[in-house]
Amino acid sequence: MTSAPLVAVVGAGPAGIAAARRLRESGGVQVVLVVIDARCEYLPGALAVATGDAPASEFCTRVDLEGIEVVPARAEAIEPGVLRIDGSRLRARAIIAAPGLTVDRVSDGSTVGFWDPTGAQMAAPRIRAVERGVIDVVISSLPYRCPPAPYGLAMRLARRARRLGHPVQVRLFTPEEQPLAALGHALGDTLLTSCAEAGVEVHLGARSDAQSAGEGGQAAGARAGVEAELTIVVPRHRASPLLADLARGDGPLVAVDDRFATEMPGVFVVGDAASSPYPRAAQPAAWSGTVAAAAVSSELGLDGPPPAATPSADCFVDHGDGAYGRIQLAYPGGPPPVGQPSVTVDSPASALARDFEDAHRRWQALRTDAAAP
Ligand SMILES: Cc1cc2nc3c(=O)[nH]c(=O)nc-3n(C[C@H](O)[C@H](O)[C@H](O)COP(=O)(O)OP(=O)(O)OC[C@H]3O[C@@H](n4cnc5c(N)ncnc54)[C@H](O)[C@@H]3O)c2cc1C
Repeated sequence: MTSAPLVAVVGAGPAGIAAARRLRESGGVQVVLVVIDARCEYLPGALAVATGDAPASEFCTRVDLEGIEVVPARAEAIEPGVLRIDGSRLRARAIIAAPGLTVDRVSDGSTVGFWDPTGAQMAAPRIRAVERGVIDVVISSLPYRCPPAPYGLAMRLARRARRLGHPVQVRLFTPEEQPLAALGHALGDTLLTSCAEAGVEVHLGARSDAQSAGEGGQAAGARAGVEAELTIVVPRHRASPLLADLARGDGPLVAVDDRFATEMPGVFVVGDAASSPYPRAAQPAAWSGTVAAAAVSSELGLDGPPPAATPSADCFVDHGDGAYGRIQLAYPGGPPPVGQPSVTVDSPASALARDFEDAHRRWQALRTDAAAP
């Protein structure tokens, strides 16, 4: 039996994986990674799945990491020093929770709602069945995962319809007054121009008071006059039930300090679930996992490389017909609000589809090194 201190990590998205791997690197820690079914989904795959161009299984991988105990279960509750799993109590010196954000999948009348590959697979037959009329894409509330992705979904749908010769109009409704406003007006304007070129009609500042994702979709669409054949909702993002005691603000995010520690002693929250000035994207999530793991290692008196001062981010923007654009962010002047993001935009190109696939392959490799020869 090992006497090394046990650190529990919840979730195998970019944040949880980065935290677990960083703890393993520092040595002297028993790392337990709790992941539902020991499987994890690559969220950017949701758009290809939604249009029926790939099965959800293509974007799902098992988690099997050398030197890390993977527990295939849903963590139920967090208390100081204790993680409750399947009715039992796992005692831990520290807990790093990375459960992401939760969305309710919707399939109701003429509305579908999803924001992951499994949900997209359920919606795909409804989406493919629309061969004429209007499809609405509705962002029901802020924040949501990957700010440019709903615009990408709308462009993908519009270009698919045009390719198939279907007379389908795609409209996008968002509560944002300007897309990606935190990154400056020029970027939002570029995205709006791309949408116009793809034939997507964008409605900014579309507010909905509705609580449920389905109502949100209908309320926004109805205001534009023409009834949609199908409304696709990016559902309201909620805090994971695991973090219910910690996410007590207005939105779904958990307040953390600069080490991603919460008000609960020994408990860290990282990734999309944490309140931070960075976008809900994979690299900022992974960075936060590394920051928390480094803080835990240092509290345990262990060494390891210091984390970078700020993350970068790399978001693919689907333009449809196999072309992707890319938005890259860095914070050379330090963390916001003092440091401002520097933004690089790659114009849409088919060649960037290879980069999207490479990013997916790297994501898989980070979860399966126990299987490596
Ligand atoms: C359509 C779409 C496109 C995107 N495109 C990009 C992109 O191009 N670039 C980019 O950088 N980012 C992109 N993102 C955003 C990116 O995927 C997320 O920011 C990132 O996955 C967040 O990582 P995370 O680790 O916080 O959470 P997640 O990736 O959501 O992972 C959470 C994990 O925790 C597990 N879990 C949840 N609850 C429990 C529990 N109670 N017990 C055990 N396990 C649990 C889940 O099963 C999951 O494995 C996209 C997202 C979407 C939806």
